[in-house]
Amino acid sequence: MHNDIPTYSGGLGVLAGDTIRSGADLKLPMVAVTLMSRKGYFTQQLDSGGKQTELPVLWDPAAYMKLLPHRVTVQIEERDVQVQAWLYSVKSLTGGSVPVFFLDTDLPANAPEHREITAHLYGGGPEYRLKQEIVLGLGGVRMLHALEFEIRKFHMNEGHASFLTLELLNRFKKPVEDVWDEKLVWDKRAVKNLCVFTTHTPVEAGHDKFPYDLVMKVMGEIVPLPLLEELAGRDGLNMTLLALNLSRYINGVAKKHGEVSMSMFPGYEINAITNGVHSYTWTCDSFKKIFDKYLPGWANEPELFVRVGRIPDDEIWEAHMEAKRHLFAYIRQQTGIELLPDILTLGFARRATAYKRADLLFRDLERLEAIGTGKLQLVYAGKAHPKDMAGKRLIQNIFDYKEKLKDKIRIVYLTGYNMDIALKIVSGVDVWLNTPLRPLEASGTSGMKATHNGVMNFSVLDGWWIEGHIEGFTGWSIGPAPQELTPGADADARDAEDLYHKLEHETIRIYYTERHTWIRMMQNAIGKNAYYFNSHRMMRRYVTEAYLR
Ligand SMILES: *Cc1c(COP(=O)(O)O)cnc(C)c1O
Repeated sequence: MHNDIPTYSGGLGVLAGDTIRSGADLKLPMVAVTLMSRKGYFTQQLDSGGKQTELPVLWDPAAYMKLLPHRVTVQIEERDVQVQAWLYSVKSLTGGSVPVFFLDTDLPANAPEHREITAHLYGGGPEYRLKQEIVLGLGGVRMLHALEFEIRKFHMNEGHASFLTLELLNRFKKPVEDVWDEKLVWDKRAVKNLCVFTTHTPVEAGHDKFPYDLVMKVMGEIVPLPLLEELAGRDGLNMTLLALNLSRYINGVAKKHGEVSMSMFPGYEINAITNGVHSYTWTCDSFKKIFDKYLPGWANEPELFVRVGRIPDDEIWEAHMEAKRHLFAYIRQQTGIELLPDILTLGFARRATAYKRADLLFRDLERLEAIGTGKLQLVYAGKAHPKDMAGKRLIQNIFDYKEKLKDKIRIVYLTGYNMDIALKIVSGVDVWLNTPLRPLEASGTSGMKATHNGVMNFSVLDGWWIEGHIEGFTGWSIGPAPQELTPGADADARDAEDLYHKLEHETIRIYYTERHTWIRMMQNAIGKNAYYFNSHRMMRRYVTEAYLR
């Protein structure tokens, strides 16, 4: 919801915030439910070699939200656990508002271990996660009921909330009417009609699975075990499967991701609604100023970006240079390193995890040196999950390259990647680099933020970029066309080769010798990419294609 409310880790959480902000702007009748994460995700510390350590985040919910008097109960390990809710209101300048309920078990009435259930985001093992999902799914529906909301559609973002379907199943439990179909006792159709499910990643770790003995011990037989096995899988409770089986409308978050999800879960009709970002949130001050001047109303009607051609070239360039100076001032302050505003600067900031291949650019150091010496600067940022050893290694590798290239290519790695730093980087670099291993980037959203600030994408054809990319027009691709479904063993080598080739012959050349073409491309990033990849368009799609069905 906010940079200083540390209840997010990366793209999924930021997207949830953008979804709600657009919902408020568009005055949609919606409410949101999440967990408190009183101890946040973590504060990142990096030593001089790039070794990450994690510190707990201390924050005070009362500074941002209001505790409500309502209490609901869920059963965990056959004991009552009380759940309370904090209200955070997202208010739009349009007059719309969306309440967000942060569920919290930190109550004196609860056993000490139960008070901790809503403490950590992505902390602990499967048992801890299971307890959190009970609070979110079952506790969430009960809380909405206690608050007297009548919900016409439940939208589960990722499988984390799928236990809400079990609460609904119990609510719609009916005596047998049709003797031919005894399963009508559990009115699955009624539940399905109420539910929408969005899957957000093809990465296996994003799909929670629990053994049934654990489920029985922690949650108990909330619906009969055979029914649960039928809905959530026989060899373990799969949260994604549960949501798939009890949702009328299902979607992935980009067209390609919809197809990839269909092959992961054969037999389900999986649609696609491509993600977007909240335009006002992800536009830096200097661009806000020129958009206000030439495209008044753009923030609540991003379609107005189609008229970006009205903005004079020199004003676009000046707005960009202002953002660049702003970023460089921040870099100087955080790292002491001085970057030069006239040098082409590439940005790469995202979760440090193997499939995103943050080190692809360094595959051939000599080549990079030959292409980039004196012509290139690099800005990196990103946290690795505390248990992701490969991700942590990646950060250290980049620190090593930084040292090796010291006198030739200036490289900075910013500590503590968060929403504030994200906006500074996506608006303050010249090009946004993205090198995931296909097809693992379901959508990606940071590149969409870049386009709102006239920053072009230079990216592997995966996720949203397959839809946003026009070669040499909105940016550049890296590697083969997306039709090749699975990358071969030589994917790294091929992608790196293409990356170096285009960096030298397109990106660097145009930046230094064809400023006019460059500014045209900046305009295209805004007029063709930001125009479409915003969360207002996304929410209108959800309303007409999913919610009103
Ligand atoms: C936008 C954002 C992300 C998501 O970026 P991806 O392109 O999906 O990797 C992650 N973290 C923060 C802080 C963000 O603002």
